[in-house]
Amino acid sequence: MKKLRKIKLTSLKGVGPKKFQLLQNINLENVYDLLTYYPRAYEDMSTLNCINDSIGEKGLFHLEIISEPTLKNIRRNLNILEVEVTDGYTSANLVFFNQNFYKNYFKKGSKVYIYGSVSKKGIFIQINSPRILSKQEIGKFEPIYNLTNGITNNEIKRLLNLSFSLYKDEILDYIPEKIKTKFQLLDLKSALKSIHFPKTINDIQKAKNRLAFDELFRLQYSLETSSYREKESSSPSIKYREFYDELKEFDKGLSFELTNAQKRVFNEILKDLNNTNGMNRLVQGDVGSGKTVVASLCLYLSFLNGYQSALMAPTEILAKQHYKTISSFFNNIDINIKLLTGDNTPKEKEVIYDELKSGEINIIIGTHALIQDKVQFKNLALTIIDEQHRFGVSQRKTLYEKGNHPHNLSMTATPIPRTLALIIYGDMDISIIDELPPGRQKIDTFVVDDSYMDRIDEFIIKQIKEGRQIFVVCPLIEENEMPLKSLEEIYGHYSSDKFLNKHINAKYIHGKMKNEEKNSIMTDFLNNKIQILVSTTVIEVGINVPNANTMVIYDAGRFGLSQLHQLRGRVGRGSEKSYCILFNNNKSELSYRRMKIMKQSSDGFYIAEKDLDLRGEGELMGTRQHGIPDLKIVNLKSDIKIIELVKSNYSDIIEDIKENSDLYKEFLTYFN
Ligand code: ADP
Ligand code: MG
Repeated sequence: MKKLRKIKLTSLKGVGPKKFQLLQNINLENVYDLLTYYPRAYEDMSTLNCINDSIGEKGLFHLEIISEPTLKNIRRNLNILEVEVTDGYTSANLVFFNQNFYKNYFKKGSKVYIYGSVSKKGIFIQINSPRILSKQEIGKFEPIYNLTNGITNNEIKRLLNLSFSLYKDEILDYIPEKIKTKFQLLDLKSALKSIHFPKTINDIQKAKNRLAFDELFRLQYSLETSSYREKESSSPSIKYREFYDELKEFDKGLSFELTNAQKRVFNEILKDLNNTNGMNRLVQGDVGSGKTVVASLCLYLSFLNGYQSALMAPTEILAKQHYKTISSFFNNIDINIKLLTGDNTPKEKEVIYDELKSGEINIIIGTHALIQDKVQFKNLALTIIDEQHRFGVSQRKTLYEKGNHPHNLSMTATPIPRTLALIIYGDMDISIIDELPPGRQKIDTFVVDDSYMDRIDEFIIKQIKEGRQIFVVCPLIEENEMPLKSLEEIYGHYSSDKFLNKHINAKYIHGKMKNEEKNSIMTDFLNNKIQILVSTTVIEVGINVPNANTMVIYDAGRFGLSQLHQLRGRVGRGSEKSYCILFNNNKSELSYRRMKIMKQSSDGFYIAEKDLDLRGEGELMGTRQHGIPDLKIVNLKSDIKIIELVKSNYSDIIEDIKENSDLYKEFLTYFN
């Protein structure tokens, strides 16, 4: 493939500097780009359709002409040719604009094959500007490419034809024959040929399989090679069989019983920890599913084994909350837990550094402060990273390197569909806490527009009178928009006389505030000195205020489903009935559907799946944010089998490729 990437499209007949520039608009520079410029769709000219079943759709029809064509001159530059046709059941009009040369083509009583889209105007069914097909064209699949001004579909096809005839022998495969046979994969040349010039629908499917396989396989390779975890490393064995009694005792000390999902996930972790291969496991669990206590069990076990462990969270607020919660779990246990954040004074920090190095501290909880150079451990055996997607690879790597191949547990409350998880977390094992602790009440969700403002205010005041607290989230602001105006406006509303007169205290918080200020406001909210907390989405991550039972989100239609779900998860954590109010004036179809799903479901995984459905293909949820390149051909919904195949056979296949130096060399050309 290296060679093909060096052949500029200007070397093809008919591509001059001007056309080359146009082609570059759609990122086509060389022959490799062209061959991997996959069709966006196909026009299926192989299956005959009925008009009546095809309203609003495009398709192939075999039609009888039932009237002589009529030609109307509408204006000087516009004439319309109409001809009535039937498929035997339904009649329709073929309509041509400025194509009067067809006038003598249609003869009453004769039959034609056409390809076009059917529309209905009142009671009239029309097929506008259809393509008239020749006998040879019937049965074909026409590829449809994304185009740019000045480049037609036919031009792309022409260039592809040229490229295949000139360079097909340069299309080299890197997958060994036996692998192709085993997994029924086409060879690369046939796959590329079929994706552009398929004869049957089966051709397309087979080609897609092979090309999706390639895309995933190469992605897996990049993930593996960029992984900082050493494969053959020897991690400390954290044993559990010896510590049954201690774990039982800890469990008894909890004010609740672990859910089955928590137990199952903890068991999965235990097996990893025991093993010197080193755990690299992601725990996915919806907001409120109780990840913290599972993390605490792991921290405890590491301590029982005589090792140090570290828990890193993305924000100060979260780190503090974890410190508080986790310390309370260890009330009756002689263990040294410390908190390290940017908030510590230099003096405090020095003490913590010393105690970490000497091993006096057993568990350290903190923010990015944990990955400073000065932080050194005596024997760090376990790292836990909360909201792991908020940290970059290099940050996670730095923490990892502070121990001697420590085990890692990552946690995320962002539920993502399994297919996507398999791709994004290609190098991790995944556990899912798919059960909420018992007794949680469903959060009643209402979608309203601004005309409900007063009624919602009354509702909020009533909740506060009963002792509850309220979260208010401001509209989502694009990165370069100025965020403060709407926040201040909304805060202005909740701090107006209407609320003040009822002795309601509102405060606001946003990401650009100083940490001290944020923390003091959060603390006041936690202690119910503040009843209404207005914020930007900074509160999205993990904070726990059980007494807050109402979440109000402005301009909810602009948020993604997963984010709305995260936000809603801030309430419903106490024993009180909880509510989520979504203000939405946005009338778009997309926001309407999002709101509907929010009303219907509280299941994070279901919502994540729907989120995926609602996003266009090619616009993959979160892949960019996770640093993963866009996938050109893999479909996250339908390609689950191939994703699993690649994931579970990757190591074997790469070994087989490496065995043959020619294949391996060819494979590596994709990466430089
Ligand atoms: P998250 O998974 O979102 O991090 P947390 O760990 O903060 O959730 O737990 C949410 C709340 O549920 C906490 O108040 C925690 O004490 C409580 N909790 C956790 N596990 C259970 C359980 N098995 N039964 C009852 N309450 C639980
Ligand atoms: Mg949490």
